[in-house]
Order: sequence, then C-alpha cells, then structure tokens
Amino acid sequence: MVEIAPLIVRIAVPSPLRRTFDYLVPADLALSRENSAIQPGCRVIAPFGKRQITGLIIELADNSELPLDRLKPISQLLDSQPLLPASLFKLFIWAANYYQHPIGDALFSTLPVLLRKGAAIPQQGQHYWQLTTKGKGLGPDSLKRAPKQRALIEFIRSQQQAIAEQEIVDVFSRGIINQLEQKQLIERVFIEQQASFQPPNHLLKQDPLSLYQSQQTAIDAINSHGFASYLLDGVTGSGKTEIYLQSIEKVLRYGRQALVLIPEISLTPQTEKRFRDRFNVPMVTLHSGLSDKQRLDAWMQAKSGQARIVMGTRSAIFTPMQAPGLIVLDEEHDQSYKQQEGFRYSARDLAVIRGQQEAIPVILGSATPSLESLNNCHQQRYQHLQLNTRAGDAKQPDWHLVDLRSEQMESGIASTTLAAIEATLQRNQQVLVFLNRRGFAPALICHQCGWSADCHQCDARLTVHRARGRLICHHCDYQQRIPQQCPSCQSHQLVPAGEGTERSEAYLQQRFPNNKVLRVDRDSTRRKGAMQTVFDIANSGEPCILVGTQMLAKGHHFANISLVAVLDGDSGLFSADFRSHERMGQLLTQVAGRSGRGEAPGQVLIQTHQPDHPLLELLMTQGYRQYAQQLLAERQLGQLPPFRHMALIRAESTHANQAEKFLRMARQMAELINPPSPDLSYLGPLPAMMEKRAGRFRYVLQLDANQRTHLQQLITQLAPQLENHPDGRGLRWSIDIDPQEL
Ligand code: ADP
Ligand code: ZN
Ligand code: ZN
Repeated sequence: MVEIAPLIVRIAVPSPLRRTFDYLVPADLALSRENSAIQPGCRVIAPFGKRQITGLIIELADNSELPLDRLKPISQLLDSQPLLPASLFKLFIWAANYYQHPIGDALFSTLPVLLRKGAAIPQQGQHYWQLTTKGKGLGPDSLKRAPKQRALIEFIRSQQQAIAEQEIVDVFSRGIINQLEQKQLIERVFIEQQASFQPPNHLLKQDPLSLYQSQQTAIDAINSHGFASYLLDGVTGSGKTEIYLQSIEKVLRYGRQALVLIPEISLTPQTEKRFRDRFNVPMVTLHSGLSDKQRLDAWMQAKSGQARIVMGTRSAIFTPMQAPGLIVLDEEHDQSYKQQEGFRYSARDLAVIRGQQEAIPVILGSATPSLESLNNCHQQRYQHLQLNTRAGDAKQPDWHLVDLRSEQMESGIASTTLAAIEATLQRNQQVLVFLNRRGFAPALICHQCGWSADCHQCDARLTVHRARGRLICHHCDYQQRIPQQCPSCQSHQLVPAGEGTERSEAYLQQRFPNNKVLRVDRDSTRRKGAMQTVFDIANSGEPCILVGTQMLAKGHHFANISLVAVLDGDSGLFSADFRSHERMGQLLTQVAGRSGRGEAPGQVLIQTHQPDHPLLELLMTQGYRQYAQQLLAERQLGQLPPFRHMALIRAESTHANQAEKFLRMARQMAELINPPSPDLSYLGPLPAMMEKRAGRFRYVLQLDANQRTHLQQLITQLAPQLENHPDGRGLRWSIDIDPQEL
C-alpha cells in the first residue's frame, strides 16, 4: 500500500506572535497536492486553544516540526480562490519581514473587517456544471435506460467545457442533475468572473488641460510600461495633479487600473472630485468613513477590476487589484503614510516595492519632498522630475519675517500682522492664520503661586478648551472641568497661558466683527459637514479669515487667499528630533503655498523671535529645495538617516523601571549577536521624549547601521528571543524600522 503523505498547511492567525501554525488538511478537503481548492492566500477556520479562529494559509507543506499526531485538522476552508493575488501576497510577506512584524497581524489588520471575521467573499461569477473524470470516460453504451441523463451528459460534452447552471436548468430538471451528481459523473464548480474592461469610447468626462512645457517634459519622462519610481517635485500650485490625471489616462487606455494614495481624504475632498470629474470610469475611495460593508464592497471592486481607479489613504496600499498599471502617491513627505502603531509600515516605501513587484511605474509627488526621496534621486533610484513654476499666471508668494522682539502683541498676533490682515480683508481677499496648536491655551497657570495644571498620567500640561469649559490632555485624552480656584494656594487668579487656535479665533472675531472667522482644527471639524461649510465659504471667495492647524496646510486650493500668517514660526527650530528642521521647512512651505494661488499676488508673514536664524533665512530666501539640500548635507555629516539606517525598540510599562530594564537586557542580547562596531551601533535605552504618557513609562533603544541588511539580520534573530523572554510579558514593546518619530 502506498502511504499518502499528509497535507499540512501553515496558517497565519491574527495574533501578536511571530510565527505561523501548522494544521492538517482533512482528507475530504485535500485529495491531492494539486487540488486547487487549498491554496496559499485562502482563509480557513481552525481550532485555536478553545476557540475557532479565522486564519490565512501562508504555505502548503508536507512536514512539520511537531509530531503529526499533535496537529489538529482545520475545520473549514472559507475561500475557493486566494483572497489576495500572488503579487500582493508577496508584498505582505516582504513587509512583515522588513518591518519585523508578525505576518498574521500584518495581514489581518489590513484586511476589511468583514473578511477578518470570516465573511464570505461576495463572489462575482457563477456556478457551472462539468463532467468528472469518470463522466468523461463514460462509454457510448452506458446509461441506456436513462435517456435524459444520457442527453445531459452529451449536452455538457458537446460544449467541451463547463456549462452555466442557468443554461442547464432551462432544459433539464433538477432531478436529472442530482442523479448524475450522485453517480459522480458531473460536478458543480464555481467560476469567478473577471470583470473584463474595455475603455469606454468616452473615457474622459472633461478635456485634459493642455500642458505647459515643464509639465509636458515631466509626463514624457514617465514610462507607463514597466517599473520605475519618479519623484515629481513641483512647487505648490505647479500642476502636479494634472500630471497624475494624464498619466492615469494612459494606463486606463490600455486596460489597466490606477491606485492613488493621498494623506487624508476628508480634508481634501477637492482632490477626489478632480479625479471623478475627469474620468468616465468606475472609481472607489477607501477611507475611514466607510461602513464595514462599503469597505468590503470597494475592496472587492478593486480586486475584481470593476473599479478602474482606486483612491485611498495609507492602508489602501494593500488593496488587491486585478490589473494594476500605475501607483500615484501624492504629498509623499506626509507623515501619515507611516503607521505609528501595530504594523509600523511606510505606505510610501511599500508603494515602491509594490511597483517593483507588479512591474508598474510609481509616481511620488510633493512640493516639499522628504530627504529620503531626494536622496533616492541622488542615488538614481528615483527619477527626479521638477516643476519650478506655478501654473498659469500665479506667482510664488513673497515671504517676510515679523520680528516679535520689537512688536506689540495681542493674543499672540503682532501689530504688523494685524495690519496686514486688515489690509487684505479690505482688498476683498482672504487670510489664512496658521497656528499648529488647538485649544484655547496650552497651559493654565496660577498668577499667585505659579502652579500649573498638569496631566497626572503624562509629562505634559493640560490644554485649556474654553468653549467646552474643560482642561484636556492632548496625549492621553484625560479631561476635567476648568477649576475656579488654584488647588495649591486657593487663589482665583488662574490664567490661560499661551495661544491656541480657539484663542486666535476669538480674538480675530472680536477684532474683525464684519468678516467671518472660520476655525479649522480637529475640534472644530468633528461635526459632520463642518469642513464642507468651510470649503464652501473659502471657495465663494468672500473676504474672511481661516484660522487653523496643519489641517489647513494640506493641498487645498483656495484661489482668493492672498495672505498667510504663521503665528508660531519658531516652533520647529528647537526640537531634539533630528527630523524637526525637515518638518518645519515642509510645513512652512506647504502652508505658505496656500497663498496667492489665484490672480492676486501672495504674501507670507512668519512671526518669530529668531529672525536671524540661518535656517529660517535660508528657507525664506532660497526656498525649500536649497534648504533641503543643506539639511541633507548635515544629515550626511551627522551620519543620520537616510545615510544610516535606523530601528527603534520601544518599551513601556506602568512600573517605572521595568521598561528600561527590559531594553537593557535587549541591548545585551543584541550585543551578543552583533557586538557594537562603527557599522552597527547602539544607543540607549533612553527615556522617550515624553517619558511618561498615559500612565506608562516609555523607553527606547536605538540601533543604527550602515547597511540595512545588517540591521535586518540582527533583529530577525533578536525578535524571537525577546518574544520568548519572560521579562517581556508584563510590558508592551515594539520594533519600529525606519522610525519617523523618536
Ligand atoms: P499642485 O498639485 O502642484 O499644487 P494643482 O494641480 O492644484 O497644483 O494646480 C494648480 C492650479 O493650476 C489648478 O487650478 C489647476 O487647474 C491649474 N493648472 C494646472 N495645470 C494647468 C494647465 N496645464 N493649464 C491650465 N491650468 C492648469
Ligand atoms: Zn496658586
Ligand atoms: Zn495625559
């Protein structure tokens, strides 16, 4: 007797464990290895401890490290086809390895919730009947006594392949079909229908703009066939979107789909609208506002190829597509592309990997490219496409510094700034006032004894939210009512210190009672439709003042804003994070870029106590490009990313010493694997920038290396050791590869 080797599947489960689990495939599910029903990428239900859970098959195997009699059989196979196309499956495996994250959690945390819970894929396709092997071998004389059954066999045979169930039941009764099925002469199969796509005759709803020379040069450089990465580095208002649109048009014309990633959809409904207005093809957007059902629907439309344009935020990089042809990622410098918890991937970097795996072009666009991407251009990994002037007649705005050391101040606004605001409103133009701090004031202080309202769970002050009558911690969301009396000296002289957007709004409204003052921050836009109201007023062009946080810096195009005033221009100058200067340059340039996009020339006022600071000076006089080159040179001198590769191991615990102790041990383990050297060095454990947050003490261990692979190899060995160490149990720890925040 031939012994049939058991079929084993390795499945990933939604768990924080860095491993897969082996299960047996019961005989009725697996007649042979070639049986197409069991494939990597299909979901199964399997016993896990006392529960039944949904898992995903990573690979098929014929042996296991565990003895066979300890393996349990899977309970159910959920999918007859892999959930993810092979190329995307590969991307997940690449990402889980690269970001040192458990594959199960990587997969399940990015799948639509309903699929995570085991819901069936709404199949687009239908059932067919076909002859079994036995049926195909049926001799001409069989079934003589059952002419109708015979006729059905011949009917299927005459078609040479499967026949849609609908066609059969029109002619033959259910009884006949059942009898043949019982005799195992015919079988029912489900055949998935791939949406076949013919570009419509009128692919465009709207004519493309005729391109400026610089746009034309850029678009000509983009090869729509095959992989290449492009950095589209175009100043604000230079017409990058038109380049995206026309590149997409090309791939749509040859039957491919486009994936468009943007930082945040609700903030920039105009962007979505520009895509919808241009093309006459089905388009889906994946964003946080969708219900579970809508998300699954959109995901399915992308997967089946029905949706030709797929737009989404960070996690949309994992959307399966039937025929991907192009990836566009707008505002590539935006921090929101890096997930900061759980599966800490960078959608920007994965876009390039996906492009490579799918052999399609990737366009990364920004007016303020990240230093990483600029360096990738220098290394010739990306092709650098530049647009140096604004589209149309719009000019780049003029920047001026307002020296706060010699200014009269009112609620954080200098008299020079106020005069400029007034003059702008009088010219019937709009003003944008930028302050990257929400709330009324960042602190509440006792005038008598100096007490300040601090969060007892964080190393932070509570922010005064006057309209709501509350003190709120912006780090852990702790809230309390604003006290009337100082808890330390009982004085009634409690004063809000410093400015937030709520205070600027209140002051400006009182100062300019005849104009609308619209605040835009996370507090003011919580209500549904609030953002739309702001857009409507801003687009109407009526003279008004927009006051807000970095939500206002993002990609908006309001033609009548001619003055941008930055109240707190110094805030990025003195941070311990080595990226803070890069961020400051990007933020100031982006917010300044909202000015002068229409006919009126734009003006930018930066309030600062450091008017002589060489970096501010450089940014103001030379612009972001020169500024970024200088920062890159400094990073190279300091051997910081992107010239050196970095990983952080973070730990936090409610007990003061536990996290630090764990990381000290982690460092010892790591040094045993790889002793410190100029090539691979260790720093820490150090307290995190905010050591205590939400009641937890936080520490970081920094590892950095000349070569990525050395870091990878080290952590690949280290992570399982840490995972199995008993000291790791009582605390939270995580690995962050290419961290964006220290
Ligand atoms: P960016 O995305 O680079 O900030 P946009 O794509 O928003 O710039 O373009 C700014 C403005 O210029 C938009 O109103 C856009 O319609 C217009 N524009 C862009 N390209 C052209 C063109 N070739 N002809 C006419 N107008 C253009
Ligand atoms: Zn006091
Ligand atoms: Zn707090």
